Amino acid sequence: MGEIVEGWFPGGNVGHVMKYARFLINNEIKYGIYEKDSLVELSGSYFNSCKKTLREYKIADVKLLAPCLPGKIVCVGLNYIDHAEELKLPVPDTPVLFIKPSSSVLNPEENIVYPAMSKQLDYEAELAVVIRAKAKNISEEAVEKYILGYTCFNDVTARDIQRQDVQWTRAKSFDTFSPFGPFIVSGINPDELSVEAYLNGELKQAGNTKNLIFKTRKLVSFVSRVMTLFPGDVIATGTPRGVGPMKAGDSIEIAVEGIGRLRNYIIAE
Ligand code: MG
Repeated sequence: MGEIVEGWFPGGNVGHVMKYARFLINNEIKYGIYEKDSLVELSGSYFNSCKKTLREYKIADVKLLAPCLPGKIVCVGLNYIDHAEELKLPVPDTPVLFIKPSSSVLNPEENIVYPAMSKQLDYEAELAVVIRAKAKNISEEAVEKYILGYTCFNDVTARDIQRQDVQWTRAKSFDTFSPFGPFIVSGINPDELSVEAYLNGELKQAGNTKNLIFKTRKLVSFVSRVMTLFPGDVIATGTPRGVGPMKAGDSIEIAVEGIGRLRNYIIAE
């Protein structure tokens, strides 16, 4: 694992759309390709060379998991001008990076835990990139073959703690603060996708990645100049205007065009 695998899958070729999912069936974790309401099981993970098997499951019969287990989640702060304005923060001239730990990953349909030490828990709808192969110092022109695809990400944030601390680590890193999924989709153009948040079914954020200050491919290149990226690492590209609070009992959905909907629920600690 780690090098570019010339498998049968076309991850990265714009126009050839593929939907990947990681899922649980009969207490076993499987990797699959989504086709016509079913998941076709793969012979291994989509980060390695693998083939389709003859085993197929109805989507309703499986539990969808976060579509990979990232070693690290790299996030970009303030990547939409309208979001920088609503937080009354200056627009950065280089991407502002921070990291969420792998322990914050949450599966679709599971509960985001509202921490007792916070009084304002916000959603942030984001497009995220999933890395396919080990990447270091990759030029913007070459990043495509290092990207497996794109997914929905909720950069859950304890806003009061973010304001209180100089560093963002605590505000961004509680367990359950990184729901993502349900699919990784390859073959779509990341520069023109609607990014939305729905709180209890009501539209709260409606952005588009065409308004990103630093575009997705540029970000992947930029991050790879800082740190080595590994298969399964996730880069979340930032959130548009309209972030807001959630409370226990709420449902929160992140919808990214061409990918699907990521739904989670809020419960008190
Ligand atoms: Mg964010």
